[in-house]
Amino acid sequence: MKKILMHTCCGPCSAYVIKKLREEGFIDIASYWYNPNIQPYDEYKHRLETLKEYTKQVIIPLIIQDEYNLKEFLQSVINYKGIRCEYCYRMRLEMAVKFAKDNGYDCFTTTLLVSPYQKHDMIKKICEELSAKYDIKFVYYDFREGYYEGQQMAKDAGLYRQKYCGCVFSRDEAEMQRDAMKKQEEEKHRKNREEQEENKRTKLEKKNNMKH
Ligand code: SF4
Repeated sequence: MKKILMHTCCGPCSAYVIKKLREEGFIDIASYWYNPNIQPYDEYKHRLETLKEYTKQVIIPLIIQDEYNLKEFLQSVINYKGIRCEYCYRMRLEMAVKFAKDNGYDCFTTTLLVSPYQKHDMIKKICEELSAKYDIKFVYYDFREGYYEGQQMAKDAGLYRQKYCGCVFSRDEAEMQRDAMKKQEEEKHRKNREEQEENKRTKLEKKNNMKH
């Protein structure tokens, strides 16, 4: 069976992808880490350590391209003319594809395709372009069908599961989204409480009116 390089964004996302690839008959799978987009540095280390732990559990070789350059990443995404994720996906995937081509892999894929929160069509398109550019097969599945199963697998395996995509922008956006949702919930509760109090008052008034 073909030798496949799986660009891996993190341990939890790799759980379902590895399962699916094995079900599809891939037995020679290697995980490839190159994610200089993860910030801050302690988060980067935490995710990498989690992946090391998981690849040991599932007996998969892990290739680590351990490069971290915060300044360079931030400058690149800020100066990028398009959507920042496009730059980020391409930079990581291109490194993986080059590695696959130079090291005798028959094909490649990426765990980025498992998350419903990622820009799936953009990732797929970039992979197709890189496949043509480096003349190496891209193995595509819509891994999103197994996202929740994979998250459960990661939970069962005791893996650290992060709350945001990777860069500081995504960390702040996720935090702001959580704050906005919390505010909405609080507002809903406040309105409910007011309605209940208003109903009580109306009932009491009716009761008092009946007495007179
Ligand atoms: S949100 Fe995620 S994919 Fe987009 S730039 Fe940040 S780390 Fe990269």
